[in-house]
Amino acid sequence: MIVLLLCHLFIGALIGFAIYRWKGEALAVPVAMVAAILPDLVDKPLGHLFLQETLDNGRIFAHSLLFLGIVACIAGVVAWKQYRPLAVALLAGVVSHLLLDGMWDNPTTLFWPLLGPFAQDHYPDYFGNAIVSELTAPSEYAFLLGIGVIAAAVLYERLGPRLRSIGDALLRHRRIVYGVMMIIGIVQLVTAFVTLANDPAVAQNEFVLAVALMLGGASLVRLDPGSAVPDA
Ligand SMILES: [Zn+2]
Repeated sequence: MIVLLLCHLFIGALIGFAIYRWKGEALAVPVAMVAAILPDLVDKPLGHLFLQETLDNGRIFAHSLLFLGIVACIAGVVAWKQYRPLAVALLAGVVSHLLLDGMWDNPTTLFWPLLGPFAQDHYPDYFGNAIVSELTAPSEYAFLLGIGVIAAAVLYERLGPRLRSIGDALLRHRRIVYGVMMIIGIVQLVTAFVTLANDPAVAQNEFVLAVALMLGGASLVRLDPGSAVPDA
């Protein structure tokens, strides 16, 4: 299943923002965002560059429960006492990545090394193709806007004049952003149903994106970043 970078980053930002609202720890946002792409930050270069000849698989070590366990130990030992919100952000970010990637479809990696070695894969020009998919997926632009709204709400007081005017515009028009997320989410959902009979793998991918967009939009409506900023 292919879930793109900004989708992972948005879900991370959303988790971080919920923790920020809950505990007042603004650092939870960047920590959860990095954690939400951490498995790809480790595995994509490792699998598609360093191990290209042997594996060429971008979902290996850091997409396993073993890696999640190691992250949980680090979060528990290093951060639990003093930085509990950040430990939760770190753990929840990595969990969100494995869920969005639908790792239940890939038990060999998920339960590595219990079910044998990683599967060999083949992705000619992985990074070139990734950039093209990134730029051509409408959902990625919706996620980018969502990230923008969250970033503007968290960083508002710290923004310089030029960035603040952009942040202001995003926050004032945040309901349009939520609407865009909902509309693209509905389109993805319809696509999921249309493709279900012919290509269940694509349908599952579209369905996960639809859920991320609609649930993400709905969570933003509820958390309402930028509620301190007057409406347009
Ligand atoms: Zn991944």
